Amino acid sequence: MVDLAAPRVLSDTEKQVLLASPRGYCAGVDRAVITVEKALDLYGAPVYVRKEIVHNKHVVDDLRRRGAIFVDELDQVPTGETVVFSAHGVAPAVHADAAVRGLKTIDATCPLVTKVHHEAVRFAREDYDIVLVGHAGHEEVEGTMGEAPDHIQLVEGPADVATLEVRDPKRVVWLSQTTLSVDETMATVDALRARFPELIDPPSDDICYATQNRQLAIKEIAVGVDLVIVVGSRNSSNTMRLVDVALESGAGAAHRVDDASEIREEWLDGVASVSVTSGASVPESLVEGVLSWLAERGYPDARAVTSAEESLVFALPPELRRDLKAAAAASSRA
Ligand code: SF4
Repeated sequence: MVDLAAPRVLSDTEKQVLLASPRGYCAGVDRAVITVEKALDLYGAPVYVRKEIVHNKHVVDDLRRRGAIFVDELDQVPTGETVVFSAHGVAPAVHADAAVRGLKTIDATCPLVTKVHHEAVRFAREDYDIVLVGHAGHEEVEGTMGEAPDHIQLVEGPADVATLEVRDPKRVVWLSQTTLSVDETMATVDALRARFPELIDPPSDDICYATQNRQLAIKEIAVGVDLVIVVGSRNSSNTMRLVDVALESGAGAAHRVDDASEIREEWLDGVASVSVTSGASVPESLVEGVLSWLAERGYPDARAVTSAEESLVFALPPELRRDLKAAAAASSRA
């Protein structure tokens, strides 16, 4: 008699693995990680970093081994030392605090986060009420709100819209965190527009190209798939949104793992099709580890499905470029 409760044993020919592209490192993360690496080479260890440089456990552990010291606040950094600000950005008050403490700073804030800061400053200067869509407590949200604390209110979702109080419903603009789910954000914006029909949109998309591309890529290969594995850390907003998007797109199941060691064997029970992607702060070696893990269990080589090409590269922070140039000039004179 067939045991209907037992998982069906799949033949290897029934199995497939799809790999989302683009996935992994974005231009802002790449720049931030290289900034810390080059700062360590140039100034020597330790180099202090305020908060996690990017939200990935493996990246942070690796930099820590190489001499980076991660701190929560600037009072943990000795006077005169170098401190790097993370890709998520900081409020102006943090820059001011660093100056008072006599710290040398390198600002690795992603230029696309800085763009949102500039929008906040501009709309505050023009005396608009600004509604920021984002997650309370996220470092990026704290940094953006710190640019215009008297003008910005945070909403996390449509449920928060009813309680907003604004001075003039005709002068309300919305901005957003860069790493949100596009669909969820638009649901919040719809609720805002229902309440404030003359709501003003951001001058350009605040949800960044990398977040949007990774969501589109997983949407394409999550439909009807049995299992989606998203590589990335729990505190990575864009990683967590990839899990949400995969489930909303019709995946049978979607799980986040920091690396292959966190995949559970039982997730594969009866699973023929697996799609794999990774958040914007995830090194490719961790994805390769997941693919090897699947291969060891009879799954074939992954087939990449490319939905967009990315070529954006950001220049390193100007203060670091200046010091690198000076060091190169000094060594050529020696
Ligand atoms: Fe910049 Fe977007 Fe990457 Fe964040 S996810 S670091 S905003 S490119």
